[in-house]
Amino acid sequence: MNHLNAVQATDPAVFDLITREEKRQATSIRLIASENYVSQAVLQASGSVLTNKYSEGYAGRRYYEGQEEIDGIERLAIERACALFGADHANVQPYSGSPANLAVYNAFCVPGDTVLGMGLPHGGHLTHGWKVSVTGKWFNALQYSVRKDTELIDYDEVAALAKEHKPKLLICGTTAYPRIVDFDRFAQIARDVGAALLCDIAHISGLVAAGAHPSPISVADVVSTTTHKTLRGPRGGMLMCKEEHKKAIDRSVFPGLQGGPHNHTTAGVAVALAEAATPAFHAYAHQVVANAKALATGLEEAGFRLVTGGTDNHLLLVDLTPRGVPGKPAAQALNKAGVVCNYNSIPYDPRKPFDPSGIRLGTPAVTSRGMGEEEMRAIARFIDRVVKNLDNDGELETVRREVAELCAAFPAPGLEHLQGDAG
Ligand SMILES: *Cc1c(COP(=O)(O)O)cnc(C)c1O
Repeated sequence: MNHLNAVQATDPAVFDLITREEKRQATSIRLIASENYVSQAVLQASGSVLTNKYSEGYAGRRYYEGQEEIDGIERLAIERACALFGADHANVQPYSGSPANLAVYNAFCVPGDTVLGMGLPHGGHLTHGWKVSVTGKWFNALQYSVRKDTELIDYDEVAALAKEHKPKLLICGTTAYPRIVDFDRFAQIARDVGAALLCDIAHISGLVAAGAHPSPISVADVVSTTTHKTLRGPRGGMLMCKEEHKKAIDRSVFPGLQGGPHNHTTAGVAVALAEAATPAFHAYAHQVVANAKALATGLEEAGFRLVTGGTDNHLLLVDLTPRGVPGKPAAQALNKAGVVCNYNSIPYDPRKPFDPSGIRLGTPAVTSRGMGEEEMRAIARFIDRVVKNLDNDGELETVRREVAELCAAFPAPGLEHLQGDAG
């Protein structure tokens, strides 16, 4: 008997794929900065019969009957989010980070309005007005960048663009930026031009919850986040706002953008928020940052160049140019060796986005396994060996075996049942 016995009986093909993915997650070093391992408790809540229930509307104001328990779950998630982040109001219904952001546009703007966000190649997200996203197509989206010399957000450029173009909405928060975001500075810029400020903490919400990154809650009009990155919940999205925006945000999510909320996800989010309020999670979030710094030091000692020269958060951007290797073949060889990351553009990248100069590395998942600074130094050495041996399959296989050995010593949350058959 296994925890997927019903899937195995009904659908052996899907069972087989899930089982292989479990093994992959157990035996590889996962350095994708947006990924994590949720707890067994979060897995169980997300896999519950709550998926069977429709509940359009909000607690106490639903369109269908039978909401006695669903209302309780959604209220718990909201209360916990408000308590954890110090927010006036939370909406836990967005299906993921992208729809959460779209709901903010829908609350504050109409199509054609000017918005100002961070360019994707400089570390912003697609939904911050990048041209291929609806946020770039339906709105007059302007983009700010990082400085060429420091690779840090160019706050003077943000202020100048805001002053000249008077955006309705100013968006900050990043997807590939290794430093602290100065939310106070953004708030000042937004105030000066009368823009609403959206702080998107999708990547860092776990760090913010634990005080390992400054919080934007007191200065932002709206804060958006995913629930599945450093916050370590199921895949989902969440919005938090001041009391004055509560109505606009709630209306924008439902009925403005979505139908029924994913109640099984809401339950998983509620569990993750309870976990995030514990001393263990506080220690976890601070260890994520300490680990990123240790990984940075290890890589610099091995001769890698880090964008901005290091990190203050959970991620690193590595410019492989000085090593004479592009990001994509490096990421592919690392994957063969059991070290999973993504290739990534670096600021002012002379190479194309589909074949850029860098890789992005993050420590949230390995830290959830209990790895510490010593293991980060070992991982830096693995990365160095792989980059020196891109086409040497024998060496990649040797690294893969050593990676599996290291992983076996740090069982991943949710995958404890695989303990003992790593390899
Ligand atoms: C991941 C991310 C999102 C989008 O989240 P999805 O759940 O993938 O839609 C939005 N904003 C930022 C900054 C992100 O990093």
